[in-house]
Amino acid sequence: MTAELVIRDHRVRLAELEGSRALDEFAMTRRQAAELRALAVEAGDDEAVHRCDMLVADVLLREGHLGPAGHSAHQTQEWAETHARPFVQARAHRVLANFYRMLGDFPEALAHGVQGVAKLPPEAAPAVRARHLIMLACTLDDSGSFDEGETRYHEVLRISAEIGDDGLALRALNNMAFNAYEADDEPAASVLAGRMREVAARGRALTAKELDTIARVEMMSGRYATLEVTLAGVLDGTVLDADGDGAAECLLTLAEARRLSDRPTAAQVALDRAVELCERRGLARARVQLRREQAALFAATGRYKEAYEEQLRYQDNLSTLQSTQREARAQAMQAIFEANEARQATEQFREMAHRDALTGLHNRRYIDEQLPKLLGRGGHLSVAILDLDHFKHINDTLSHAIGDAVLQQLGRLLQDRTTGPAVAARLGGEEFVLILPGLDAAAAALYCERVRRAIHDFGWTTITGGLPVTSSIGVTTAAPASTAAALLAAADRNLYVAKRTGRDRVVV
Ligand code: GH3
Ligand code: MG
Ligand code: MG
Repeated sequence: MTAELVIRDHRVRLAELEGSRALDEFAMTRRQAAELRALAVEAGDDEAVHRCDMLVADVLLREGHLGPAGHSAHQTQEWAETHARPFVQARAHRVLANFYRMLGDFPEALAHGVQGVAKLPPEAAPAVRARHLIMLACTLDDSGSFDEGETRYHEVLRISAEIGDDGLALRALNNMAFNAYEADDEPAASVLAGRMREVAARGRALTAKELDTIARVEMMSGRYATLEVTLAGVLDGTVLDADGDGAAECLLTLAEARRLSDRPTAAQVALDRAVELCERRGLARARVQLRREQAALFAATGRYKEAYEEQLRYQDNLSTLQSTQREARAQAMQAIFEANEARQATEQFREMAHRDALTGLHNRRYIDEQLPKLLGRGGHLSVAILDLDHFKHINDTLSHAIGDAVLQQLGRLLQDRTTGPAVAARLGGEEFVLILPGLDAAAAALYCERVRRAIHDFGWTTITGGLPVTSSIGVTTAAPASTAAALLAAADRNLYVAKRTGRDRVVV
């Protein structure tokens, strides 16, 4: 085949995959996308490579690998924007919408959901458009705009009728029915559940998630016997459970229904099955929900002590789960902004290299770089070196940690007092430097005297418990030909004089 034909061939297969229901089957989608990607790389078809990446990212998200998926989608989004490929942009936005939904960032998810539809060119395949509309509708639902979401679901239903895709129709109906259930709108929920059954009757089997929605709707009007029939396929294992936790949710619904219809023993059977399934599949989130139902079931049978204990376990597990999710979220965000971060990190590291870790003040390196520049500008410039008095005594009688706390507090005091062009830095240990542009000797002496007094008068009691903290300061002013080294040496000599003549003083 010529290269052009190869491209045409893999693009046709790619388009099929993008609009197909096979997306529900993770392993298959991943395998086919990988195969097509290899072909696209070989043909030098960058656009197809990115489209394959988005298919894989979709699978990664559903499998819970948020970081890699988000990272990949951000990269594709950037590539598509730079190369003006709106279709690829739309594909990436759709993945990003789902990514941010999973992170719980609904406004961001909505923004991407909107772009996922807006960027789609008019000639995009209806099956793809419908999938993008579903994602948009989901982000609208998450944001509480149910009416807006409903408009999109109706459009999906129209498209699915046009192209004869019952899977799509069921997805839209399922979400609509679930929204009605959540809104406690039984009549609307019932109608939608009925429509789901009608579509399913044409041949497309209902998934566990879809059956769960129908069962929940039936529970709303106390149709417990019907509900048992609805979920029978889950108990005998004949139902497709693509998402992995649909069956567990069905069993939870079953347990709840049986408890509400006064059949605690049967409820316990369903609950035990659900627990077993969750533990076998490692479904942490569903497992936590089961604890709440177990507590309710204990309470319903008068076993209040066990109910109470189970409720405690529920709360405990829930907070563990939430912190795990927070951690996963943090990791995902980190993965995404890796590229961005690398850029910013360079600046950040540069900044960090100029900061003292303990006090947050500038450090010696900063002074070594800045002082010559300031001298080069001309004008008045004074420099002071400040050293704490008998600091070793504070460390020795209290502790090194308290010594650190004193240094940090001193850092804050100096930071607060160095406004405008003045700069405070930590030279090392308990030695600090103040650079005072614009101050002649007299002004610098006054300034430093205020600093000395502020340190002397500060309420150190809470940190040192009565041990005083004072400082000695040596000041000097630049002469026309001063070098940075000479200036610091002169300040240091004055500091030495201040120490020798009694400490807690300024020497100019
Ligand atoms: P003087 O009044 O003559 O300056 O006496 P001094 O005790 O302050 O001076 P000396 O140089 O003998 O001791 C400084 C002490 O500062 C010694 C060292 O252990 C301590 N030190 C240096 N860096 C740090 C630090 O980062 N944290 C703490 N807690 N102590 C530090
Ligand atoms: Mg000292
Ligand atoms: Mg010292």
